[in-house]
Amino acid sequence: MSVQQCLITGGAGFIGSHLAETLIKMGEGVVVIDDLSTGRWENISHLKGKKGFRFVRESILNKAVLKKLIEGCNVIYHLAAAVGVKFIIDNPLKSMEINIKGTENVAELASKEKKKVLFTSTSEIYGKKERRRLKEDDDRILGTTKIARWSYSCTKAADEFLLLAYHRQKGLPVVIMRLFNTCGPRQVGDYGMVIPRLRKQALSGDPMTVYGDGKQTRSFTYITDVIEAMIALMNHPWAVGEIFNVGSEEGITILTLAKKIKALSKSKSKIVLIPYEEAYEKGFEDMRHRIPDLSKIRKFINYAPKVNLDEMLRRIVS
Ligand code: UDP
Repeated sequence: MSVQQCLITGGAGFIGSHLAETLIKMGEGVVVIDDLSTGRWENISHLKGKKGFRFVRESILNKAVLKKLIEGCNVIYHLAAAVGVKFIIDNPLKSMEINIKGTENVAELASKEKKKVLFTSTSEIYGKKERRRLKEDDDRILGTTKIARWSYSCTKAADEFLLLAYHRQKGLPVVIMRLFNTCGPRQVGDYGMVIPRLRKQALSGDPMTVYGDGKQTRSFTYITDVIEAMIALMNHPWAVGEIFNVGSEEGITILTLAKKIKALSKSKSKIVLIPYEEAYEKGFEDMRHRIPDLSKIRKFINYAPKVNLDEMLRRIVS
C-alpha cells in the first residue's frame, strides 16, 4: 500500500493518539488537529519529530484551517467530539456545538474534496434499549430532551444522518463505526469513564464509586483491538456507506468490574453504591445493558478482539 496522508480530528485524545501512533508506525503520514479541550499534548508528544507526523492545535470549528488540512490529506479519521457522559452533562452547549457544527464542517469540506471519512459514532446511539445484543439496524429508544445525556446520542445520530446524506447525494465516501466502551492506557476518568475512575480510586485507597445498583452491564474493548478495526474498516472498499458496531461481546456488571479492579490492585478501598442522581443529575437515566452484536463487522473484516477483559484489566490496573 502506498503512503497515505491521514488527517485525524481529535487526534490528541485517548483513541486518536493511539491511532496516530499506529499509523506512524505503519509508515503513513499523520496530521492531527485537536484543540486540546479534552485531548492532551502528552498523549502525542512522543510523536513529535517522527517522520510524517504533524500537529495542529486548532478546533474543527475553524473552517479555514480545516479546509487546508482536508485539501492536503487522502483520508480523514473524524474523531473530534465531546466525550464522556459527565462532560456532556456538564457542558451541554459546547458538546452540541462541536458534535453538530464540527461534523458538518468535516462532511462539507470532505465532500467537496471527495476525501474518504471514517466517523467514530457511539453505542449511545441505541439509547436505553434493553435487548442485550445491539444490532446496527436496531430501533433507537431515547429518553426526554430534559435529560442532557440523550443530547449526546441525538447529536451523534444527527452526524450519522448527515454523513449518510452526503454519501447518498454527493458521493462522499464514508464509513461509520459505533464504538462501545473502550479502554486502555491514556484514558482518563475526568469525563466519567468508569475503568480509569475505579482504577484511580483503588490505587489511592479512596472509596470506589459504583453508580446505581451496580447491576448494569457493559462490555469493554481494549484500545489496540479498536485501532486495528478502525484501520481495517477505513481500507475496506465495501465498507463505504455502512455502519459497524465495534466492541466486545464479553459483558460484565459494573459491580463485578469494581471487585475485579479492587482485587487486581490489592486495594483496601471500599466499594460504595452511589445513586445516579448524586453522581450525575436529577432524573439521570442509564443504559441497563449494552453489548454489541458483532456479526456484521466479523463478516466484513474478520474482526475478533484479541484482548479479553481479564487481560485488559491486568494491563491497565497493574
Ligand atoms: N460508572 C460507575 N462509576 C463511575 C463511573 C461510571 O459506576 O465512577 C458506571 C456508569 O453509570 C455506567 C458504567 O459505569 O453504568 C459505564 O460508565 P461510562 O461513563 O464509563 O460509560 P457509558 O457506558 O455510560 O457511556
